[in-house]
Amino acid sequence: MSLAFTPAAQAPQDALAINADLHSHSRVSDGSLAPGEVARRAHAHGVELFALTDHDEVDGLAEAGAAAAALGLVFVPGVEISVTWGGETIHVVGLRIDPGCAELRAGLARTRSGRDARAREIGEDLARAGIDDAYAGALKLVGNPAMVGRTHFARYIVEQGACRDVHEVFQRYLSEGKPGFVPHRWADLGDAVGWIRRAGGVAVLAHPGRYRIGDTALWSLVAAFRDAGGEGIEVVSGSHTRDQYRRFAQVAREFGLRASRGSDFHGPDESRVELGSLPPLPAALAPVWLDWPETARAIAAARAARGESGARTARA
Ligand code: AMP
Ligand code: MN
Ligand code: MN
Ligand code: MN
Repeated sequence: MSLAFTPAAQAPQDALAINADLHSHSRVSDGSLAPGEVARRAHAHGVELFALTDHDEVDGLAEAGAAAAALGLVFVPGVEISVTWGGETIHVVGLRIDPGCAELRAGLARTRSGRDARAREIGEDLARAGIDDAYAGALKLVGNPAMVGRTHFARYIVEQGACRDVHEVFQRYLSEGKPGFVPHRWADLGDAVGWIRRAGGVAVLAHPGRYRIGDTALWSLVAAFRDAGGEGIEVVSGSHTRDQYRRFAQVAREFGLRASRGSDFHGPDESRVELGSLPPLPAALAPVWLDWPETARAIAAARAARGESGARTARA
């Protein structure tokens, strides 16, 4: 079977059958593994097309790219930008970005800049809720002090024995409306999409099923995202249910957006979904990688080097 992608509205089966994982995190943001370890783990779990997409930071991409290259794993440089839209926190993934793009780097630096002050406030709020020294505790767990986030607080609180796992910490302390939640203003939607495009990348709306907004607001969000230059949407995501795969496949078709697939892996002990283990994209969708012909060639070459000729189906 040939792997050449045809730029058609309907993707050929070969393109959909690639085991792509285009959303993952390392210690450079709130993942627990080093960037190279994430790449090696992706390869070990059968991923053929892999993106590291740390929150608001591109510093892990060189290490992840080098580890992927050493294994013949096709690598996509990525990022996940925190955005405030209509009072909600929204995430926008950028794929195939040039990490050297000055405008992207400056935008990400601005987006990161409020994190430390926010973390101090979270620490003070948690102290009032009976959790002591959380700011210092969270900082001890970061790989990158500029990227201290709620996940680091969650890990500290689990370490202290106050909760069983990070999910419980979010439910009891860190989600909106809970005592350790500090509202924050992230990047504008149009700015974030613009930085990604200026860096030569494709903007993808991350895990739309996670936003606590009604259908009308979701519709407005997808429309605003597309109007700003967004081109893709995560359909098969570690944050989505099977019903949501179907729902967002329909949204992708209606809005003419490319479909993406990503586990949102953060670490072996925390993530519900392992790298490369999600089901394939539903049929009749154009995957984001359909427009990347050299990606198809690189994957075909990697398969040939492994002695495979046919398409390899993503594990269901
Ligand atoms: P922050 O950017 O600091 O607000 O942290 C956001 C991160 O917290 C997300 O990227 C997830 O990794 C994590 N997170 C958010 N909600 C939950 C949850 N309910 N359970 C586990 N992790 C969560
Ligand atoms: Mn995260
Ligand atoms: Mn996210
Ligand atoms: Mn993520």
